[in-house]
Amino acid sequence: MNDFKQKNLGSLFVTQPLKGQHALITGGSRGIGAAISNALAALGANVSLLARDNKTLKKQSDYLATEFGTNVFYTSTDITNEKEIESSFAKSVNANGPIDILVNNAGIGKSMPFHKMDLEFWKTTLDLNLTGTFLCTKQVYDTMRERAYGRIINISSTVGLRGYPYIAAYTASKHAVIGLTRTLALEAVKKGITVNAICPGYTETDLVSEAIDSIAKNSGRDKTNIKTEIENMSPMGRLVTPEEVAESAAWLCLPSSASITGQAIVIAGGSVM
Ligand code: NDP
Repeated sequence: MNDFKQKNLGSLFVTQPLKGQHALITGGSRGIGAAISNALAALGANVSLLARDNKTLKKQSDYLATEFGTNVFYTSTDITNEKEIESSFAKSVNANGPIDILVNNAGIGKSMPFHKMDLEFWKTTLDLNLTGTFLCTKQVYDTMRERAYGRIINISSTVGLRGYPYIAAYTASKHAVIGLTRTLALEAVKKGITVNAICPGYTETDLVSEAIDSIAKNSGRDKTNIKTEIENMSPMGRLVTPEEVAESAAWLCLPSSASITGQAIVIAGGSVM
């Protein structure tokens, strides 16, 4: 490698820039979280996956071990349950060492007109999307400060940046995640910790197919038409892929991304600008 490349383009020329680092991904068993675990494993990280369903966790863990030779740990965890979170983070640290990278990805996005929404619906969304992000971040933050290194990535959404009808709880939770991201970024920056949010538009995962099923059930409309309508809400005329979101998350973890913090990065084909 010549001097210019080594000095100025450092991490682009390292084969596995995250080798030896420990990345924990909540909701890492499928969808966007699984794609992020693939990207981080490909860059050499050891990976811990937390989600509720053991079967999908095992399937994704087996994939990472086979495909990338990753040291992978998983444990069933409900990210709305503080005790389970505490125990699962302790087990993950035991298996893979201190956590360098935390991806707060587990989330739900159910719709409900505001006039029909009760407190339970509201709390279910906020407990996972917002308080879950807070609780998981608390688990890693002190150690990241002590070690003067960390990458925290919060998966928000385009709904974290603008209003949409019928998803008040989801929209409020994702706006709040961006507020938390921006504030913590300022508190953490001198300690070598970056905190960023990623804001995908409609992405090809179970979350969107379940939303399409629910709209079809409530309206009697055809699922293919609903999907086309959602695709056409994006100027690029298609859904985002989980891999496109994952590569942005991976980029934020590179050593050369140390100056990127407090950002809400939109991946949505021009839907929000
Ligand atoms: P999926 O529904 O495909 O996957 C959700 C993941 O979160 C699964 O691994 C699921 O596993 C886990 N999860 C759900 N509830 C809990 C819980 N209580 N405790 C622990 N884990 C849980 O969703 P996506 O991949 O689409 O979404 C991932 C993130 O991206 C979410 O925060 C979502 O809001 C955000 N997002 C998604 C968009 C989209 O269009 N798909 C657009 C913008 C943002 P299990 O069920 O086994 O617990």
